[in-house]
Amino acid sequence: MLKRVKVLTMTAALLAAFGSNLLLGNAIAADKTSEVSVFSDKDLNTAAWLRDAARLDNASYRILESLTTEVGPRMAGTPADARAVAWAEAKFKELGFDKVWKEPVTFPSWQRGEEKAEIVAPFPQPLTITALGNSIATPAGGLTAELVQFATFKDLQAASPDAVKGKIVFINHKMQTAADYGSVQAGRTKGASEAARKGAVAIVIRSVGTDSHRFPHTGVMNYEDGVEKIPAAAMSNSDADMVVRMIKRGKPVSLKLSLSSGANGSYTSYNVIGEITGSELPNEYVLMGGHLDSWDLGTGTIDDGAGCAITMAAAEFIKRQGLKPKRSIRVVLFANEEQGLFGGKAYAAANEKQISKIQAAAEADSGQGPVTQLSSFVRPEAFAVVKQMQAVMAPLGVVAGDNNAYPGPDMGSLRSLGAASFGLTLKADDYFDLHHTPDDTFDKIEPARINQATAAFAVYAWMSANSPVNFGSGQEPLKSRK
Ligand SMILES: [Zn+2]
Repeated sequence: MLKRVKVLTMTAALLAAFGSNLLLGNAIAADKTSEVSVFSDKDLNTAAWLRDAARLDNASYRILESLTTEVGPRMAGTPADARAVAWAEAKFKELGFDKVWKEPVTFPSWQRGEEKAEIVAPFPQPLTITALGNSIATPAGGLTAELVQFATFKDLQAASPDAVKGKIVFINHKMQTAADYGSVQAGRTKGASEAARKGAVAIVIRSVGTDSHRFPHTGVMNYEDGVEKIPAAAMSNSDADMVVRMIKRGKPVSLKLSLSSGANGSYTSYNVIGEITGSELPNEYVLMGGHLDSWDLGTGTIDDGAGCAITMAAAEFIKRQGLKPKRSIRVVLFANEEQGLFGGKAYAAANEKQISKIQAAAEADSGQGPVTQLSSFVRPEAFAVVKQMQAVMAPLGVVAGDNNAYPGPDMGSLRSLGAASFGLTLKADDYFDLHHTPDDTFDKIEPARINQATAAFAVYAWMSANSPVNFGSGQEPLKSRK
């Protein structure tokens, strides 16, 4: 099956393909000749056939339809969380996975409750808002205070407490593109504690989203230890625009906020795992997956039902065609990503001592696709095989990335432990229009997009499982290169 070819350990062409950031210390001797294993032409033909066949298959679309119709929203720690776990176990079995099991994940649970806001002066009218995950409640009957506006979280950090004391902080940071998520998200996750330190009574941010619809975007926020907890909510982009127009008129703008959300003890959910067992190296495995939990406002379709469906279908398609992967293929549907990556951290902790068994890790958690780029995080001995994987994916419109891949939020902890990883970048142009809103629903799914992503993940799983070289998890140089 395998073809051995003589190649320069690191040819000029490979260097150009991967970029100079691949020069991992002394791992590469550019002028020596050695043997590197690569896929044979026959293997490459099988992978190309798999790519084209998977792209015509609708399994991921059907799985996502099933999850969003039969379970729907499944916020961590709610009764729907348990229904999602039961759905996942049953679906893996129905799809013919060889082994199906679940591993417990315990976390603090939060419940939403009622949420209301209205401008009480100078132009009374209701606002469309939602509590941010982890927010405490307002006092019964709500709280009313003047708004103080900041353009960004950094501006709030720079503000004098005199400007903030006794007020409701309004961070008006508009997200323009998906690339802004990291910087705009800081106001959501850290804004409440920063505002509280300066004496604010609550915080209501402009939603972290690129849409112009009247849907607020929820998402997790965190309280810093030792800082007073204040209620935290997000208003829709449309409402934020209106509040800005009011503020421009020069009179104080007062807002009444009522939330009854709060902590609700601890809860045990599960990472649900399905495996296609390998024929030659069953104890080594290729990982892929998404997170099973979602926020509660929509039906958790693009975030992250799509990732669950894409990876379940990719593995199932390989099995359905009668192809036998040499290494095992494991699909993990992670518990409670949204409120703090609890499932991903639990999986990494449970597998820390067996990192070398993970051939590769990759996650789908940025929507329905298509996949636009394949990047890697592998040892140099695997570069030639990665290049073959990139070539097989090229007809899908996938371009080659660098060797500094981030596999996704739930797999991030494994990468930090030195797990070989792949980044299958999902096109996220419209992702933040829907993300964490009531509008994250199944009608947004386009079969051509999700089928392409499924084909790319099938190629990733199949070629990683059958790779003639080990990708180097737990070994140098990946071990020291976090
Ligand atoms: Zn997600």
